[in-house]
Amino acid sequence: MNARLTPGRVLASGERLAAESARLASYGWMRGTSGNLSEVVGRDPLRLAVTASGLDKADLAPSDVAIVDAGGAQVAVEGVHAVRPSAEAGLHARVAAVTGAGAVVHVHALSAVLAGRRWPGGVRVRDVEMLKGIGRAARGDEVVFPVIPSGQDMGEMGDRFEAARDPRVPALLVAGHGLYAWGEDLVRARHVTECVEWLLAYALAVA
Ligand SMILES: [Zn+2]
Repeated sequence: MNARLTPGRVLASGERLAAESARLASYGWMRGTSGNLSEVVGRDPLRLAVTASGLDKADLAPSDVAIVDAGGAQVAVEGVHAVRPSAEAGLHARVAAVTGAGAVVHVHALSAVLAGRRWPGGVRVRDVEMLKGIGRAARGDEVVFPVIPSGQDMGEMGDRFEAARDPRVPALLVAGHGLYAWGEDLVRARHVTECVEWLLAYALAVA
């Protein structure tokens, strides 16, 4: 994980990010140019490959990827054309640093916005099989998805995330905004996102 970043490694990561972005966009969770995905490409120091800002997430190329540091600031890689990283990259980096996740997904799924509005103190779910999809028990295990206020300062957002976080819950709702979810790699992060979105829709439907 600490090998030097080469153009080949950056593009390989960009290819994975583009494929997962296209799939999540096909679910209707990345409308317009919203949402972003990231993958850890170095741990010491922390480096993330993150999708470029302002592009259609259904149609990314492997080169539509930026490398950022632990604060979300862009890091130049020799031989790689620099594109602007998502403004939300700083929160991706904080999530990866705090949780040890290898990949982070951020989508503006409607169910996340509705659930965050209805339960600003946290979304409670229990006794449903889909909880196993995020590593929790299907019975007798109450899961509380934390909700934090939205904002533009990613350092502040990161502090809110750390204060609200439950280490057993691999997701975070941002009120009036969307959802972050994470896992050890991009595929796992997508699976978590799919299960969390389903659980939020379920919570809204049975409320
Ligand atoms: Zn967003």
